[in-house]
Amino acid sequence: MTRCALVWSSDLARYRFRPGHPLDPRRLELTWSLLQAMGLAGDDRRPVIAPRDATEAELLTVHEAEYIEAVRTVSRDPLTPVDRRFGLGTEDVPVVAGMHEMARAVVGSTLTAAEIVASGRATRTLALAGGLHHAHAGSASGFCVYNDLAVAIRWLQREHGLRVLYIDYDAHHGDGVQSIFYNDPDVFTFSIHESGLYLFPASGFVDEVGEGDGHGHSANIPLEPETEDESFLGAFDAVVPELAEAFRPDILVVQTGCDAHALDPLTHLRCTTGLFEQLARRVVQIAERHCDGRIVATGGGGYAIHEVVPRAWTLAWAALCGDEAPDPIPREWLDAVLAEAPGELASTLRDPPSAIPPSPQRHQVERANDLTVRTLKRRLMPLITGWGLGF
Ligand SMILES: [Zn+2]
Repeated sequence: MTRCALVWSSDLARYRFRPGHPLDPRRLELTWSLLQAMGLAGDDRRPVIAPRDATEAELLTVHEAEYIEAVRTVSRDPLTPVDRRFGLGTEDVPVVAGMHEMARAVVGSTLTAAEIVASGRATRTLALAGGLHHAHAGSASGFCVYNDLAVAIRWLQREHGLRVLYIDYDAHHGDGVQSIFYNDPDVFTFSIHESGLYLFPASGFVDEVGEGDGHGHSANIPLEPETEDESFLGAFDAVVPELAEAFRPDILVVQTGCDAHALDPLTHLRCTTGLFEQLARRVVQIAERHCDGRIVATGGGGYAIHEVVPRAWTLAWAALCGDEAPDPIPREWLDAVLAEAPGELASTLRDPPSAIPPSPQRHQVERANDLTVRTLKRRLMPLITGWGLGF
C-alpha cells in the first residue's frame, strides 16, 4: 500500500507578511478545508502529520550565518536597519515581527516531509506550506525568506546519501534552489516556468546548465506567455523522463506551485487546474520508475487564492496519492468560500473546456516552445550523454 502523508498544521498559516500581500496563507487554509470537505486526507493511507521545527544547524546547511542573524534581528525588532544585500524590507519581503520563526517553521515542515519519506513511513508526502524556492543562501527574495526545499534536499543528501532530482513547475523560475546546487553533481535541478523575459526573477534560460562539478546538472524550460496545458505538458514530456533516465535519482523533490493557471494574477500563462493533476501523475510515474515511488512534494506559488489554488492542489494531492478525485466540489464548501471570495467560483475541480478559451496566439506559442525545447536538448545532450546515457 502506498502511503501518502500530508504535512500540515494551522500554525503554518502564520507565514504572513501584511494584509494585501499576494502570499496570503488563506490559500493554504482553503486548500486544507477543501481536502477535508472532500474526504481526501486524514485516513490510514493518507495521514496528516504535524511538522517539527527546523534547527539552527539545519538552516546553516544552506544559509549564511550573517543572513540568518539579520533575519533574526529584524524579526525581533522590525525597525532595526538592515543591510540591503539581505533582501529584507522590500515590497516582496517586508519585515514583520516573528518572521524568523514563521520562516523556520516552513523549513521544518518540508524537513518533516523528507524525514517521513526517508524513514519509509510514507512513500510520498506533500508539505503544503513549503516551496519557497526563491530564497538564496544569503538573501531573501520573491516572498521567500528561508529555502525549505534546499534545506530538505541537503538533509536528504547528508543524512541518507540520496541523489535528488528537483522538479519545479511553478510559473516562476526556481532560482534559489538552482543557485544553491549549481555546482553540485548529486542534485539535478529542473525548472519549467514562464520565461524570465516576461516574469520575475528574470532567469531560468536554456543556457543555465550548472557550473563546475555541477555542469550539466541543471535544466530550464522557459515558456512563452499564453502557454496552454498541452504545450506545457509536451515540453515537460520531451525533457523530464529522459533526464530522469540519465540521472537516475534516488528521490524526487517537487515544487508544485499552481500559478501557471490562466486566472493567476501574477503570471501570464494560460493553463487550467487539470494541468496540476497531469503533472503530479507524471511525477509519480517518474518516481515509480526510478525511486521506488519516493516523492517529497511542496506547495509553492498560486495567487488566485479562492478561484484556483484549493482546486489545483486538491487535484495534485489526489494524483500524488494515486487517486482519481471526483470532479464536483461539495456545495457547503462553495457556499462558505463564496462568502469571502471576490467573484464567482467554479463548481468542479477541473476547469471545463469553456472556462479558459484558447489563446489567439496558440500556434505561435506552441512553435516557440517547441523551439525552446529543441534548443535545450541540443545544449544539454552532449553533457548528459557524457554520463553514458542521454536523450
Ligand atoms: Zn510562482
